Parts: sequence; C-alpha cells; structure tokens
Amino acid sequence: MRNLLKNIVATLISLSGIHILIRELLCRNRVAILMYHDPKPTVFAKHLAYLSHHWTVISLQTLVSAIYQKDFSQIPPKSVVITIDDGHRWNIELLPLLKQYRIRPTLFVCTQIIGTYRHFWFKIAGQSKAEREKLKKLSNAERLVHLKQTTDFEQEKVYPDRQALNIAEIKKMTQDVDFQPHTQFHPILPYCTETECRQEILGSKTDLEKLLGIECSHFSYPNGDYTEREIEIVKASGFQSARTTNIGWNTLETGPYQLKTVPIADDAGLPLFRAQLTTIPQRMNKWLRPLLKK
Ligand SMILES: [Zn+2]
Repeated sequence: MRNLLKNIVATLISLSGIHILIRELLCRNRVAILMYHDPKPTVFAKHLAYLSHHWTVISLQTLVSAIYQKDFSQIPPKSVVITIDDGHRWNIELLPLLKQYRIRPTLFVCTQIIGTYRHFWFKIAGQSKAEREKLKKLSNAERLVHLKQTTDFEQEKVYPDRQALNIAEIKKMTQDVDFQPHTQFHPILPYCTETECRQEILGSKTDLEKLLGIECSHFSYPNGDYTEREIEIVKASGFQSARTTNIGWNTLETGPYQLKTVPIADDAGLPLFRAQLTTIPQRMNKWLRPLLKK
C-alpha cells in the first residue's frame, strides 16, 4: 500500500514538473543535505548521473562555513551535500563512483563498530520495524538488557560476519570521503544518561581523530534524535555542526547544530529520487504514517 502510494506520488510529481519548479525557484539559496545509508552502486550511480546534470554537489564544510559567515555568495545555486550514515560495509563499493564524479561526501560512522566484527543493534535479524521503534523509547540500559535477553545481542560482542567498513577500506577511502563521527554504538542519545551521552559524542570524536589523524568538526545524531542537552554536549565537544533528520533545506538562518536533511531511499529509482529531492514524499509519509497505522 505504502509503496503504491509512493510510486503514485513520484509519478505525479514527475508529470507535473513540480520538481523542476522547486529546483529552479526554491533551491537558488537553499541547500539540501541528502542522507543515505547503504545504497547499492547501481542505484547510487543513477542518482549521481542525475545530480551531475541538474545540481552541484558541494562539501558539508562549504555549507557549514557559509552558514557561519552568513554568506551564501560562494555557494552555487541548486547545491546539495551528500551524507551517508553509519559506516555500512558495502559503502566501499561506492568509491569508484566518488572518483568518477569527483565528489567528496561526508560519511558519518559509528566509531566502535567500524573496524570490528561488532554489529549494529538496529540490524538484528528478524527484528520488526515496530519492535525496533519500541526499543527506541527505552532507556539506553533497558534497551541493551532487552536486546541481550531476547536476541543475545551485545554491543561489544564479536560476530562471525562483518557489517561495517574495516580500517583498510576506510584508509582507502579517506581521499574521497570526509569521515565524521556518528557516536560510538548508535544509541538513542536523549535516552542515554548524561555520562553515556558525553562518552558517545566526545568518545566518537576522539576515536576517529586518533584513527585518521585529522580533526573532526561535524556530527550527526543517531536516528536524528536530540534535545537541548545533546546540542550543548556536541558544541562543548568542539564540533562546528550537527545534522538532524528534520526534513527540509538549509538556509543562512539554519542553526549549525540543527542542520536539516533530505532523506533519500537507498533503493530509489530515478522517478522517486527526483520526487524525494522536492521533499514532498517524505513530508507526506510523515503526515500519513499515523493514519496508515490505524
Ligand atoms: Zn545512523
């Protein structure tokens, strides 16, 4: 039902030409930060080919600097930033495309999962979306106890198969990828104690800086969840910006610790991708979700 709706909306947007109107009129001085997770190279290649014709891909640093300087004059109209979350293993396969299109996306990685055979808690096999959503409402300690009891999952357990990028892959990618932290283990930060929260945020910065010998300036909130407390800790940890999952474009008025995003489905065909660049399907999905549940 939801897929059918999605396709209808994507087709309507394509036919109406509204995606062109939004791009040409609205996106002259607004920047979209696209958010991916684990796109297949075949899908990502189509998106990049389309972007290369109609948009300019800029770096996250360029956008954040412009926001701080309150000056978008150096940003080409119709610009997008590409971000990829978590540090999924198959992200390595995107490397030839990044070289081909000469773009340098930001990859937000969980620093205690990359380079290990530990697993992402939200990728536990057999876990339904509803179960996962319920877990996101438990305190961090309760969630971990529940996962241990029901699935034998442990954050630091070593599994036979690898889910995240390894160190050799990361080092191979550093020229073409801006690596930035996304906590250590991907907890839901507002449900962490203050100590856990500081450890996850500052700890991930220290981990990645040590690993790559660079300074990390940008953060993204796992699951997009944050409160004033997280903003304060991110600031105090020395970050310049943080990306949320709040849907929308970024302007000179956007707060650097509440950067907005345009979520892109990892498997989006070209019509849906074009539609998602307008943010209409994502906004509709947000409104319709509670209704479709009933
Ligand atoms: Zn994430």
